[in-house]
Amino acid sequence: MMEVHPVHAFDDNYIWLIGCQDNPHVAIVDPGDEEPVIARIERDCLRPEAILITHHHADHTGGAAALARRYGIPVYGPANERIAAVSHPLGEGDTVELSGCGLRFSVLDTPGHTRGHICYLGQHALFCGDTLFAGGCGRLFEGTPEQMYHSLEKIRALDGDTRLYCAHEYTVANLIFALVAEPQNRDIQQRLEQARVLRSEGRDTVPSSLAEEKRTNPFLRSHVPALIQAAERFAGHPLDGPVEVFATVRRWKDSLD
Ligand code: ZN
Ligand code: FE
Repeated sequence: MMEVHPVHAFDDNYIWLIGCQDNPHVAIVDPGDEEPVIARIERDCLRPEAILITHHHADHTGGAAALARRYGIPVYGPANERIAAVSHPLGEGDTVELSGCGLRFSVLDTPGHTRGHICYLGQHALFCGDTLFAGGCGRLFEGTPEQMYHSLEKIRALDGDTRLYCAHEYTVANLIFALVAEPQNRDIQQRLEQARVLRSEGRDTVPSSLAEEKRTNPFLRSHVPALIQAAERFAGHPLDGPVEVFATVRRWKDSLD
């Protein structure tokens, strides 16, 4: 049985430790900082076996070189981005074998937030970095709206029970916007309330399930009439298809951040 544990870093980053019950081996996802990871490894007597990186931003890679050196482990990461610490470049369809944990992940290309962003899928879990967030999606720093839309559609096509492990705790802010875009959506209202309670208790809102995201995440809902109408109101003109709806909703959220 896979077990995933968060290590909190910076203000709102999640560094995920992937492991298995009664097994000290772990893989480290997106270590932006090595210190909190080393502290957890030492506290729990863990044995790191690999580092998995989703994209090149420093808050996802900053601790990778130090951890790789300290533990003598491989660093997997996107082939389409230049990341000094990466020893094993990966792209769509490649697999990562974690032999200590006995787990295997396949790689999805998900450009949009950055040009070469990848996600790791396995055991009904997706480690999606800054592509899909709980209630939101990553900003388009390098890719086009079209690329990001197709990356999100690739994720939307996975099983509804897929657990989504994104790299930031942005859920409350994301759902506040989701409710601006779809004020009548009861699922968003309820989810925002739940997320606020969790945060007020100092608890994490991540992971979520894909089924929940499909009901509440505006960036997976470009085909929903209520959202299309809201996006057209924001744009001030009719929108031609889901990519334009997605691009408009993304621009709308950027204008409020
Ligand atoms: Zn990023
Ligand atoms: Fe990030």
